[in-house]
Amino acid sequence: MTTEIINAKELHKVDPVFGQLSFDNHEQIVFCNDKDTGLKAIIGIHNTTLGPALGGTRMWKYANEWEALNDVLRLSRGMTYKSAITGLNLGGGKAVIIGDSKTDKTPEMITKFGEYVNSLSGRYITAEDVGTTTADMDLIRQVTKHVTGISESIGGSGNPSPVTAYGVYMGMKAAAKYKFGTDNLAGKKVLVQGIGHVGETLVEYLVKEGALVQIADINQARLEEVGAKYGASIFTGEDLYTADVDIYSPCALGATINDDTVNKIRAKVIAGAANNQLANDIIHGQILKERGIAYAPDFLINAGGIINVYAEIVGYDSAEAMKRTENIYNTTLEIFNFADTNKITTQQAAMSVAQSRIDQRKKENAAK
Ligand code: NAD
Repeated sequence: MTTEIINAKELHKVDPVFGQLSFDNHEQIVFCNDKDTGLKAIIGIHNTTLGPALGGTRMWKYANEWEALNDVLRLSRGMTYKSAITGLNLGGGKAVIIGDSKTDKTPEMITKFGEYVNSLSGRYITAEDVGTTTADMDLIRQVTKHVTGISESIGGSGNPSPVTAYGVYMGMKAAAKYKFGTDNLAGKKVLVQGIGHVGETLVEYLVKEGALVQIADINQARLEEVGAKYGASIFTGEDLYTADVDIYSPCALGATINDDTVNKIRAKVIAGAANNQLANDIIHGQILKERGIAYAPDFLINAGGIINVYAEIVGYDSAEAMKRTENIYNTTLEIFNFADTNKITTQQAAMSVAQSRIDQRKKENAAK
């Protein structure tokens, strides 16, 4: 019986961690449990060939531990490729805290989590993600130096989301250039799904350029607030995947391009911030390619945040971080062309370029 043909429920009887479908030769997986604060967290270190594993901490109300484990495995792997393709000397890691960030999070829990991060002596460096904030990172900074995305007042780079949004905007423009022959988004119908930290700033860029922006979110109050602030219209249709738009921008959670949605999507370009947008990299990437939909790989265009926090490690320079983020435009175009030349999907193209950089470094390290 191979792991491919047994489901997660049966897997735990066989290989509960290394047998997970999302396991991809991760170097280290750390389970953190603290009874006193209620902390239950998992830190995933996927690969440290290029440098310490940097990636944010997500706090989420997972339905079960399998979901949390799979999320951290998928997200940490994504970070390896994100840093590699962006040219950063960082490996890939990520952490998840199991719980509702609105009701379960306490300063004691976050501090305890920081102590776990510290125990890894810099092999893993944390940052904020969905469900955690700059204030949480400041708390963590009190118990470890292996944290980024801390407040500017204590020497950090602050919230990385605006920089992430700028990178997504650059990637979207490059994808538009590839698909429509122009990167001018004026008059283009763009649907932004998820108008949180990243989505809102993206909406601002798009509206400024004259795009016709529609927004969707599960938070009605936020929809009304952001809609009124930028003059974006609220999506009211039954099914946003069938929306008649030019560009679909997933900026909420991952896996929105899946068996149920991939054949319905009418947009000609997909470019958004969410991590792991393709439920299955190979199958759904291929279907998008066959349907002529230009997909800008998520881990490539949402790298602005990591570029910003990386700058914090090497000496923060906001202008330099923005310049590097702007270059996402060029890299995205290169990936579209590489994919065409090699008759592969853009996801495969981006993975292949990232993997080559890791392989090259591995060779150099071995030769030392
Ligand atoms: P956020 O939590 O601030 O915003 C997410 C938004 O999505 C919220 O408004 C939420 O209500 C909405 N949402 C949740 N489920 C939804 C659904 N089913 N349909 C519609 N809306 C839904 O998060 P963020 O920081 O803006 O990040 C957005 C995405 O981008 C996440 O997937 C995150 O991992 C990824 N990302 C963020 C950064 C960053 O710098 N913040 C960097 C890289 C990747």
